[in-house]
Amino acid sequence: MLNEQVALVTGASRGIGRAIALELARQGAKVAVNYAGSEDKAEAVVQEIIAGGGSAMKIQADVASEEDVKQMVKTVVDEFGRLDILVNNAGITKDNLLMRMKEEEFDSVINTNLKGVFLCTKGVTRQMMKQKYGRIINVASIVGVSGNPGQANYVAAKAGVIGMTKSNAKELAARNIQVNAVAPGYITTDMTDALTEEQREQMLSLIPLKRLGEGEDVARVVRFLASEDAAYMTGQTLHVDGGMVM
Ligand code: NAD
Repeated sequence: MLNEQVALVTGASRGIGRAIALELARQGAKVAVNYAGSEDKAEAVVQEIIAGGGSAMKIQADVASEEDVKQMVKTVVDEFGRLDILVNNAGITKDNLLMRMKEEEFDSVINTNLKGVFLCTKGVTRQMMKQKYGRIINVASIVGVSGNPGQANYVAAKAGVIGMTKSNAKELAARNIQVNAVAPGYITTDMTDALTEEQREQMLSLIPLKRLGEGEDVARVVRFLASEDAAYMTGQTLHVDGGMVM
């Protein structure tokens, strides 16, 4: 499905990003596995892709640093020759009630989750324009649509990502670069492992499909948006949330 294509997935050493990297590789894409934290986990993703007969490389970069992003994009193009798919997945949470939220907690979440999407998109655009082809898929969140108490920073960033998806889609369409987003609901990853049993039950009561999502649920929709099946879509945000926010 994605043979000969090159994908860069940010924050791909674990969680949803890892599931996306593995899924795109299963479809034949060469995958650059970006990571900021554990090199071992990124290497494990690379080895899993290679063991499945695919091609992959790991690249350390902070998506919130323009210098890091420039270097990362250059490394991918030098190594794999092109760059067709960017998945802006890297993200963090620093939850706190509004009155307690520190400026640093607000700034760091905006820097990683919103500015990071801007920098990585800007970083790949020249190469995608040269190719006259590109697919950019942003990982937003349903809370960017619905809001969530205790997450003013995260919600502002994710709502910003949904808005930027539309803006970039309009700006880049003439260059045959499509920009779409997925908005996951509650997906079981390190980010949600901290939930108490009570919080988990509370969450399930809000999900019509009656289960938390898996990374693979999101990865399959990202794969669709990266594929030819989504050739006539741009600027859209697809909810992958078991029907939680309609
Ligand atoms: P996770 O914490 O397991 O993974 C996030 C990844 O991003 C990690 O590998 C981390 O190292 C990386 N990262 C963080 N800061 C980075 C930086 N500055 N530069 C590069 N990489 C960085 O979380 P996850 O649940 O897999 O989340 C992935 C994405 O999905 C995030 O954007 C998150 O906001 C979004 N999301 C998650 C859920 C959920 O329920 N898990 C729901 C909605 C949206």
